[in-house]
Amino acid sequence: MKAITLLGSTGSIGTQTLDIVAQNPEKFRIVGLAAGRNVPMLAAQIRQFRPEIAAICQEDKLSELKEAIADLDPQPILLAGETGVIEVARYGNAETVVTGIVGCAGLLPTIAAIEAGKDIALANKETLIAGGPVVLPLVEKHGVKLLPADSEHSAIFQCLQGVPKGGLRRILLTASGGAFRDLPVEKLGSVTVADALKHPNWSMGRKITIDSATLMNKGLEVIEAHFLFGMDYDGIEIVIHPQSIIHSLIELQDTSVLAQLGWPDMRLPLLYALSWPERIYTDWEPLDLVKAGNLTFKEPDHDKYPCMQLAYAAGRAGGSMPAVLNAANEQAVALFLEEKIQFLDIPRCIESVCDRFSSHNRSTPNLDDIIAADKWARQEALEVSQQLHKGSSAAVVR
Ligand code: NDP
Repeated sequence: MKAITLLGSTGSIGTQTLDIVAQNPEKFRIVGLAAGRNVPMLAAQIRQFRPEIAAICQEDKLSELKEAIADLDPQPILLAGETGVIEVARYGNAETVVTGIVGCAGLLPTIAAIEAGKDIALANKETLIAGGPVVLPLVEKHGVKLLPADSEHSAIFQCLQGVPKGGLRRILLTASGGAFRDLPVEKLGSVTVADALKHPNWSMGRKITIDSATLMNKGLEVIEAHFLFGMDYDGIEIVIHPQSIIHSLIELQDTSVLAQLGWPDMRLPLLYALSWPERIYTDWEPLDLVKAGNLTFKEPDHDKYPCMQLAYAAGRAGGSMPAVLNAANEQAVALFLEEKIQFLDIPRCIESVCDRFSSHNRSTPNLDDIIAADKWARQEALEVSQQLHKGSSAAVVR
């Protein structure tokens, strides 16, 4: 039985991982759980899965959590704050840590888990994008596995099984096109938060759903693919595939193309990250190609969605630039979700922050450099968005 720790247990990735554990009690057990601030859900999960340790990041919620499970016997170790989450990540004999925290907040817990010798089932892409130059050498040093749980990267990973070293020529990342794929570019200026949160194919957390609407999610995935599979940016392409049935493809040296298919359901890549290299039987609905119908493809529109090119540029710049891109994006998306900036301000803000950083970029950053770049970019993004906001109010007044 595989012992698992789950970070971000109350989110979309977290709850789907727990579904898998609940459906396979003879294969998986939960050692540790960590969440941000959702006490009722975390308490219910502790009751059901009986972890040895659990943490809530928001410190003032600890007493509420303790009270909510006061009748449990035995009691798990209960911790709070960022240090509590890090403690859960490195705790005990968990073999695999599933990283379902959203954003760069996952970086230090992921590093702690790697240093404690745990394999990582990586959903939290922001960690690798920001921390790639530090995370990858640690993975190597501690001899742990970085198993992709993002559906596209899981597809690539699945296709790569059995491909000899040097056999890979090109990666084709598929993209659904997000909430606005059928909306003319002129209308993007007036879309609302509610519009942007309506993803056509996937049900996910709020931040990644907005990233899907701007297509920054695909840009971030390009950088993620670069770090996970060592592929040069010129060899990673994006193709729009509205049905989300083909989760990504690889081209081999002889031009043969391999793809992984399935219904859009995150449980499949999560299960594979937990069971690799084994294949576990499930009673989930098998793919029916006739029911799926047409599978179509088109080129991404870089004018409509500038975030993809911003991500390629940041990835190519390397060093701390992906961390800056990611932090500026996290900040801009948060401001958009709070209705403080417009949808089209998101790429404007990110571009401006990356431009300001370019002369300060270091090619081989250490962890302190990455954390400093992340902090700087968030502050800078706040300032830039205030200016954008002033600009748009002035335009309205005029
Ligand atoms: P959600 O917003 O649904 O969930 C985020 C989770 O992280 C919640 O459990 C939240 O806790 C927790 N959390 C937030 N901050 C902290 C913190 N500092 N310490 C501990 N826990 C924290 O996000 P998703 O599940 O959608 O996404 C998670 C990650 O997986 C992201 O990186 C995303 O890009 C990636 N991903 C998600 C996919 C999906 O289908 N959802 C697909 C592919 C990748 P609480 O709710 O208690 O505040």
